[in-house]
Amino acid sequence: MTLSRKWNAEADTILTNGKIYTVSLTIEEIKKGKKDFPILENGAIAIKDGKIIAVTDMGEINSYKGKDTAIIDLKGQTVIPGLIDCHMHAFFTGINLMNIDLSNTTSLKDLQNLLKDRVSISKPGEWINGQCWNNSNWEDSTFPTRKDLDNLSKDNPVFFMRVCYHVAVVNSKALELAGITKDTKDPEGGVIGRDEFGEPNGLLYENAALGLVQSVIPPFTSDQLVDSISAIGEELSANGVTGVIDANLTMEQMRTYYKAYKMGKLKYRSRIMYYLDTAVGSCKEHLKRLDEAATITGFGDDMLKLNAVKITLDGTPSSKTACMRRPYKLDPTTCGFTTVTEEELKEMVVKAHSLGWQVGIHAVGDKTADVALAGFKAANKISSIKERRHYLIHHPWPSKDQLEIMKELNIGVTVQPTMLHLLNEAPVLYDDMAQNNIPCKTYFENGIVTGGSSDAPVVPFNPFLGMWAAVNRKDLNKDLWGAHERITPIEALIMWTKNSAFFSHEEHIRGSIDVGNLADIVVVDRDFIKGPKEDILNTKVKLTLLNGEVIYKDEI
Ligand SMILES: [Zn+2]
Repeated sequence: MTLSRKWNAEADTILTNGKIYTVSLTIEEIKKGKKDFPILENGAIAIKDGKIIAVTDMGEINSYKGKDTAIIDLKGQTVIPGLIDCHMHAFFTGINLMNIDLSNTTSLKDLQNLLKDRVSISKPGEWINGQCWNNSNWEDSTFPTRKDLDNLSKDNPVFFMRVCYHVAVVNSKALELAGITKDTKDPEGGVIGRDEFGEPNGLLYENAALGLVQSVIPPFTSDQLVDSISAIGEELSANGVTGVIDANLTMEQMRTYYKAYKMGKLKYRSRIMYYLDTAVGSCKEHLKRLDEAATITGFGDDMLKLNAVKITLDGTPSSKTACMRRPYKLDPTTCGFTTVTEEELKEMVVKAHSLGWQVGIHAVGDKTADVALAGFKAANKISSIKERRHYLIHHPWPSKDQLEIMKELNIGVTVQPTMLHLLNEAPVLYDDMAQNNIPCKTYFENGIVTGGSSDAPVVPFNPFLGMWAAVNRKDLNKDLWGAHERITPIEALIMWTKNSAFFSHEEHIRGSIDVGNLADIVVVDRDFIKGPKEDILNTKVKLTLLNGEVIYKDEI
C-alpha cells in the first residue's frame, strides 16, 4: 500500500523502517465513528521544505533519495504525528519552571519544607512563588492558611497557587503588601478567606481575589519570559508535543511570544488565545477591549497564530466555584456561580463572534455549560457559528440536551483526562458525577470533536500520561472510575492529533502523517497502540521533528 504522490522531488530527509500510524482521517469521518486509518508496518516518510512529500512502503522510497538526502533509520520503531495539546498554558508552565513546583507534596509538611529551602536561598523581601499544591492528595486534606507559612517566611512574601488555579494561599507579608486587612471587602466575583474573627486567613478564591495579591508581585522581565518560552519548548519536544493551544494570554504576553519567535526561540507551534479576563473590569470594558484589539482569530503563520478569545465562566468543584445544576454534595447551600451573568456572556460572545473571533469557554459545571451554550446560540442568531468552531473547555458532565446542541452547532470540547488520575475530585462529587467525569466515550459516540489536552500546569502535559488516563481511567489509588467511558488507544491518539488540530482549523495541514502536511513527526520507543494498555504511560519519545527539523533526539 502506498500513500505517495509522485512529486519528482529529492527529499531533504527520509525516515526509513518505521511502523507508521498515519491517523489519516477526516474530521467528518471521525464524527461518523470511523477510527481505522492506514498503518504502515514497515514504512518510510520523505520530507522536503518542511513538508511530507511521501508516506510509503520501503520499496517505493528510493525514488525520493538524492545525493544530499539525510536518511534516518528508525529500526522498526513506532511513528506518530506530532502531538497537539489543545488546551494548556504553555506560557505559564514556562514561567513555573522558575517557581517552586508543589505538585508532588503529599502533606503540609512537604510544602513547608520546600518553602524553608527556598527561603534559605532567597534575598530578603524577594517574592517566593509556587504552584500546584493539592490538599486533596495530602494525608490531612485541610486547607493551609497563612499561619502555616508565617513562621517559615516572615520577610519574604509567599504566593502559593493551588493546583486548580482558582485558589491560593499567601502569608501575612503578602497580605500586608497587598493591603488586605480585616476591613477589605471581598472583590466582586472573588472571596477573601477569613478566620472565625473575620481576619484574612491567607486563602484567596477566584481571579478577582487572587489578583489583589498578584498585582503587587513584580513581573518577570521580557527577557526572562522569552527564556521561559524557550525552556518550555524543550520540555514539550522531549514529550513529543509539537503544537499547543496556549490559553489565557494578555496582549502583552502575546507580544512576548512574537519576540521569542523572531529571536528563533519558539520551538513549538503555538495557537494563542486572547484572554478576556472577566475579573478585570465590567462587561462593558470587556466589549471595549474586543473592539480595540486590532486582530482576530487566524492572524499569524504556521508557527504562531491567534486562536480564540478565552472566557473563564466558572471555577472547579473542589473549590465549589464550578456552577452546577444541583447543590454540592458536601455543601447543599451552594451550587457554585458563574463569573458573569448569562446576559453578559451573550453580549461578549455575540460581540466576539461578530468581529470574527472564535470563542473558547471554560465551563466545568453543567449549569455553566448551559450558560455557555446559550451564548453560542445567541451568536448563531447573528450568523451561523458552525464554521467558526466555538468550543467548550473541560465540560466534564454533558447532559443529553447539551450534546445535541453541541453536535448541531459543531461545538467541540477540549478535555483533560489526566485530571481523572491526579485531581482526586471523586470525594467531593456525587457518585454518578465521579463515574461519568470527562466522558470521552460518550463524546466520541455523539460525534462531538474531542480534543486531547492537559490544562498544564494544572496537571503535567505529558501526552502519554493523558492518553493512558483516557484509556485506563484510574486514580492515584489505582481505583477505576467510569469503566464505560474508557476509550481505545487509537481513539486517544486521534484526540491528541487530528481532533486537536480541529480547534485551530488546521486538520488539513497537521494532526496526521499525510502527503502535503507539515512534517511534524514523533518516534517513540514502543508500540503503545498495540501493547498493554497499562504500558502507554511508560512510552518515551526517541525523536521529534518539527517542520522536518529534528528538535529532540534520544538515542534510536
Ligand atoms: Zn485552562
